[in-house]
Amino acid sequence: AKQQGRKTFAFYSTEIMASSVERVLIERGLRAALSAQQLELYYQPQVDMVTGRIVGMEALLRWHHPERGLVQPDSFIGVAEETGLISEIGEWVIQQGCRQARLWREQGFNLGYLWVNVSPRQILHNGIEDAIAQAMHENQLPGGAIKLGIEITESLLQSMPQSIEVLGKLRALGVRIAIDDFGTGFSSLGLLKQLPIDVIKIDKMFVRHLAVDGDSQAITAAMISMTHTLGMGVVAEGVETAEQLEFLRMQSCDVVQGYLFGAPLCPAEATQLLVKHRLG
Ligand code: C2E
Ligand code: CA
Ligand code: CA
Ligand code: CA
Repeated sequence: AKQQGRKTFAFYSTEIMASSVERVLIERGLRAALSAQQLELYYQPQVDMVTGRIVGMEALLRWHHPERGLVQPDSFIGVAEETGLISEIGEWVIQQGCRQARLWREQGFNLGYLWVNVSPRQILHNGIEDAIAQAMHENQLPGGAIKLGIEITESLLQSMPQSIEVLGKLRALGVRIAIDDFGTGFSSLGLLKQLPIDVIKIDKMFVRHLAVDGDSQAITAAMISMTHTLGMGVVAEGVETAEQLEFLRMQSCDVVQGYLFGAPLCPAEATQLLVKHRLG
């Protein structure tokens, strides 16, 4: 069941494929959404486990649909990927994320990283490194107090040689690379070692049951310690309770993210959070 589905409308649940009619409607709507400026990035804080400071923000895409209200990305990212629209949407996400990073820097917030989600298909699409370099340059990100990070899912590892090359170029631009939803795919940490990766994000599926389930505890502890052995950082997502946080603290997880610290917020609310955080 969708946790966030209360105030929002989902076209269909992630488990069930949309009917072909739905898909056509989504595709048509998405094309319009880009030009009608119905897309918006929300931001969720990432908190350093030791200092308690906000050290990053993850940008999460929202669609303000004229009839259906606020639509969550799980309802449309899949269709965007299949139709190739993800390239255009993804470029918009990168540009918008970089613009927000510049705004926050100009307002004096020096949160470390602004993270955007990038679909594996975008990485393999020609020119992503140029689009990222341009967006960074336009917003004076290189050398600035806020840096860009990208989150990619494990499925990227199916196209290794190409991925290694692109990720290497991005890293040379100063972009940090995180593997998202780690533990849900079939990749091993051995494979990861061949890729230029800075951070592993433990999927919320493991975090959810940390307080009650020994298997989730064992897997999470192992992922954290192996990731550290490989010299990478660990972020746990979906942290909702003090018990989960305590377990992650005991295992020396580096950064935590989840409703316990704040849900994804619209830009104005995210800025308010940063203001409070700076004062507090
Ligand atoms: P994700 O990257 O794994 O993002 C984490 C999801 O967990 C987000 O859902 C977030 O709102 C939700 N979440 C955050 N904290 C908690 C918590 O404490 N508990 C629970 N149960 N959930 C929490 P959201 O925003 O609906 O995004 C869903 C997925 O859509 C993302 O999963 C990501 O894969 C994709 N997505 C979002 N924005 C973009 C984008 O700009 N580009 C691409 N390619 N994919 C995106
Ligand atoms: Ca993510
Ligand atoms: Ca994730
Ligand atoms: Ca996910």
